[in-house]
Amino acid sequence: PLASECAAFIDRAPTPFHCCAEAARQLVEAGFTELAEDESWSGALKPGGKYFYRRNGSSLVGFAVGAEFAAGTGGISVVGAHTDSPVLKLKPCSKRSAHGYLQLSVECYGGGLWHTWFDRELGVAGAVIVKKGDGSFVKELVHVKRPILRVPTLCIHLQSADERAAFAPNKESHLQPILALESIVKEQLGADANGEGGADAAAGASPAAMDARHAPALLKLLASELGCAVGDIQDFELTLCDTQPSQLWGLHNEFLSAPRLDNQVHCFTALKALVEHANAEKLEGDQRGGEGDVAMIALFDHEEVGSDSTVGAGGPIMAEALRRVSLCFPPKKGPEEEALLLTTRKSFFISADTAHAVHPNWAAKHEAAHTPKLNGGTVIKSNDNQRYATNAPTGFVVRELARRSKTSVQEFMVRNDCPCGMTIGPMVASKTGVRTVDVGVASLSMHSIRETVGADDVRSSFVLFTTFFRLFREIDGACKF
Ligand code: ZN
Repeated sequence: PLASECAAFIDRAPTPFHCCAEAARQLVEAGFTELAEDESWSGALKPGGKYFYRRNGSSLVGFAVGAEFAAGTGGISVVGAHTDSPVLKLKPCSKRSAHGYLQLSVECYGGGLWHTWFDRELGVAGAVIVKKGDGSFVKELVHVKRPILRVPTLCIHLQSADERAAFAPNKESHLQPILALESIVKEQLGADANGEGGADAAAGASPAAMDARHAPALLKLLASELGCAVGDIQDFELTLCDTQPSQLWGLHNEFLSAPRLDNQVHCFTALKALVEHANAEKLEGDQRGGEGDVAMIALFDHEEVGSDSTVGAGGPIMAEALRRVSLCFPPKKGPEEEALLLTTRKSFFISADTAHAVHPNWAAKHEAAHTPKLNGGTVIKSNDNQRYATNAPTGFVVRELARRSKTSVQEFMVRNDCPCGMTIGPMVASKTGVRTVDVGVASLSMHSIRETVGADDVRSSFVLFTTFFRLFREIDGACKF
């Protein structure tokens, strides 16, 4: 089923870099061409063409141009999601040890349920800047899948009754993982120093040097993973990740348990829908649709920390994508600048992010009439205080898409006495002026190291997005408001 494919996607995507690399791999396989943002696209983009580009390797925009698209007459139908999740990241100086243990120093990225990171076998993954033989520098991805790290809890016997009741780990002092026993590391480094090549861990190294900032044992591991010399590693962005594979669970395998479902589940369903749509372009009759528009996915980094960055939804990515793609297809009449505004008015943005399913043991946290369930269909998220961008017309589009695609939708609004999360929806809406709706797959345990969604909801999400790319223009045309 699609949920198993989603699990495999997530297991290959421990970081936003890997998420975009995996998406890029699948897009290339489906005949998409990668564009460079720092090169001219004029003349390069063709009607009916399929393209994508990455920014920083951690955000990705992919799009399929309809055969009849032109600026001014066509719109851009976008499904947006985010590639990042709350994680522990290595600090710029990660070298740390205590009581004979070699540890790593980590930073909390985003609002994680940090207690779920205790007592799990962890790997490490990320992007490393490596110096090549010709003097150039490249960014290479690394994913150490074997368990090399663990953050142990404190045994119950050493905690007072108050401490047990309040389990409240200090984010600085209690979350630092153990990597190794120092005695073994010292023995090995000693052997290296006597052998060929020698370790660079000599005294007197500059404090900015990699081996002054990070444990030489860690650098050695990375070098062996990357097939380079320790000295070639210039810097990196590394993240801790769970080593337990994602899996279906429940008596009938009706649930999917995985890390980063928020929000890689939607990176996956949006990607699959774009590929499906791009390949269905040649089909006849019922399968056709959307030839006058551009179908697009936009996968952003940095949602978990507020989106305000060069690669976040609060930055210029979306507005630039609308502008840059439109201008490659000159209007049939009228000035370009006006055509761009017309295309913006004809465009639509589905902000896809996981939603809060009602929890059977904490049901009072939901208001009774707004209790999404796992496998109950795509959740339409509303919040008139603009934490979500949905309004009646944009919500209607999704309900109509669901009706036509024979999938279910359910409603969510947070209780008045409860804080509400936020998504990229209001962010993109305010940056671009494009009509926006907030939807998503219902989930439990959001921001845990392992979250859960309904397996069938993965399929519903994919079907809804495919239908959106195909039928949005038709539905929009029927709406006289
Ligand atoms: Zn999210």
